Amino acid sequence: NTVLEVRNLKKVYGSRGTLYPALDNIDLDIKEGEFVGIMGPSGAGKTTLLNLVATIDRPTSGSIKVDGIELARMNDEQLASFRRNKLGFIFQDFNLLDTLTIQENIILPLALANVKAPEIKRRGYETALLLGIEDVLNKYPYEVSGGQKQRAAAARAIIHKPSLILADEPTGALDSKSSAELLQCLSDLNETYGVNIMLVTHDAFAASYCRRILFIKDGRLFTELVKAGPRKEF
Ligand code: ADP
Ligand code: ADP
Repeated sequence: NTVLEVRNLKKVYGSRGTLYPALDNIDLDIKEGEFVGIMGPSGAGKTTLLNLVATIDRPTSGSIKVDGIELARMNDEQLASFRRNKLGFIFQDFNLLDTLTIQENIILPLALANVKAPEIKRRGYETALLLGIEDVLNKYPYEVSGGQKQRAAAARAIIHKPSLILADEPTGALDSKSSAELLQCLSDLNETYGVNIMLVTHDAFAASYCRRILFIKDGRLFTELVKAGPRKEF
């Protein structure tokens, strides 16, 4: 089963005068159960690619399908529902709401989806357990560490069981210990629960946790590296 299918994807910024080609004929498939890293230097086109899949921006040409559904065919209402139901986001700067507790932040996608209160509470706690943040549920974001904040963001990203998690430089604001904890959590979620993840980064350490790494430069994917087996602790 293919979760994400990208074909001949092009993005050119600007109009008339000066054009900035940001993505040039990208083909990409993410299958069920994959943890894929997109790695490349600054300016390579990573954020552009992520924004197109996230439907935050529209391609110049080409096709993007998620669960077999062509994004270009959706109207704004369908896109909003698509983003809420099918995608989970993890950003570099966490994007937690400061006036909500960690628990309230985590359960937000379920509350928006009209899930009943007892089930929201149960799934909030179970998801927090998966990320190892069950002890800080009643704290506010400013009371917890950066690593805990990002694991809360990861919990929020997966709680509604989306088809694909999009992680944009998720370790960019973390120290190396917190980065390793977060990446191990993502890796475990992928291996144990088959959570599908696309992670973009310029950081080789972050990419090293992905099972398959695609390298992007000047808007083109030029090679990939598939790791032999599950990552071992050492
Ligand atoms: P990355 O995320 O890998 O750093 P980006 O996707 O942000 O790369 O950028 C890819 C290219 O597109 C770069 O050359 C960048 O300068 C250009 N670019 C990105 N956004 C815009 C924009 N809004 N207008 C013009 N050029 C842009
Ligand atoms: P309150 O309704 O007082 O806010 P919570 O539901 O937030 O209480 O739970 C308080 C604490 O109890 C949580 O921080 C968590 O550690 C624990 N807890 C909550 N739900 C469960 C559960 N389903 N199983 C085990 N422990 C739970």
